Amino acid sequence: MEKQWLEGLRNTVERVLTIPYYQERFGAIGINQAEDIKSLRDFQRIPLTTKEDLRKNYPFGLFAEPMENIVRLHASSGTTGKPTVVGYTLNDIKLWAKIVASELERAGVTKQDVVQIAYGYGLFTGGMGLHYGCEELGAVVVPISGGNTARQLMLMRDFGTTVLACTPSYALYLAESLEESGISRDELKLKIGIFGAEPWTEGMREQIEARLGIKAFDIYGLSETMGPGVALECPAHQGLHIDEHFYPEILDAEGNPLPVGEQGELVLTSLDKEAFPVLRYRTKDLTTLHHGTCSCGNVGWTMERVTARVDDMLIIRGVNVFPSQVEEAILSLGEFEPHYLLVVYRVGSLDQLEVQVEVDETSFFDEVRELEGRQDRLQRRIEEILGISVRIRLVEPKSIPRSEGKAVRVIDKR
Ligand SMILES: [Zn+2]
Repeated sequence: MEKQWLEGLRNTVERVLTIPYYQERFGAIGINQAEDIKSLRDFQRIPLTTKEDLRKNYPFGLFAEPMENIVRLHASSGTTGKPTVVGYTLNDIKLWAKIVASELERAGVTKQDVVQIAYGYGLFTGGMGLHYGCEELGAVVVPISGGNTARQLMLMRDFGTTVLACTPSYALYLAESLEESGISRDELKLKIGIFGAEPWTEGMREQIEARLGIKAFDIYGLSETMGPGVALECPAHQGLHIDEHFYPEILDAEGNPLPVGEQGELVLTSLDKEAFPVLRYRTKDLTTLHHGTCSCGNVGWTMERVTARVDDMLIIRGVNVFPSQVEEAILSLGEFEPHYLLVVYRVGSLDQLEVQVEVDETSFFDEVRELEGRQDRLQRRIEEILGISVRIRLVEPKSIPRSEGKAVRVIDKR
């Protein structure tokens, strides 16, 4: 195994050593050629690559191919400053399509399927990544992109859509809108959902599956490493199979490698990308790796579902809080709608966390005493999980803004 991995890793090292930025960094630790990587231990000496490195070399400084060989650019939305830009050769695009196609196939998608891609199209990799994969597979693609929910539902019925691809929060919004649309679930042929691009919990999966009457699969990827398709679940739903064109590692907060089975930050190296090879890229996604044989027969790396991103972490009175922990608490009680918002503010010098959560239409008119009981149960559950006191505010049905892409879970007023 190690020998096979090293071969791929050396490939990428060789490729990035054509780039001055890497030559300088690697030269400083005595790595001047791919042959200097003799073991995985040597490989782990290579400096980690971060989003900051990409920004420093904006826009094309880390491309390993001349621009005449680049056929496409994508970029990730930078909330602050410059976006991070990635490039693809024609081979990269073909490889990406093949990877996505084979993973979709594993999830049960076939050329008989009609796939409605409600991920955004554009510089974001979600739409185009799924699009080329589905075409490679031979399925019918409906490139509708995100938004325009009423039209999504109409075409879902009229075109006989069988597979929906979008963020989990948009899937939930579509499900909710379906209930109000006058279109019954029986008129739809939907059976599979391919959901990703934001952290979500098992409880959220159950909600979406029940409301849309489908099987939901978790897909993982980020533009810096390729786009969607780095990993996807199989029908066993025991983690996401990481595609063999990537080498994963898990690191602790200080950047030291952790053994298989321990939770930490996922770090990825591409093994066959031409235009934009990445070496030890810090994804900022927290997960756990496993290696072995899945009950579906696949042998290789799997990663557990990403329920938290390092960037989403809130520090409240010195305690680390992830929005997904709150989601888990809300959904575990089964008494609330899966729509919530965390509002963080400060009273004097003390951080406060208010969790706003929706009640459904019918219970909104329940007795105050009943609602108070529910509110208390949720408060206790969240406080147990987070270890800090929180304030719960039950809000009216449909008052928390719905998402057509990545959901906004936190308003930080500090
Ligand atoms: Zn499997």
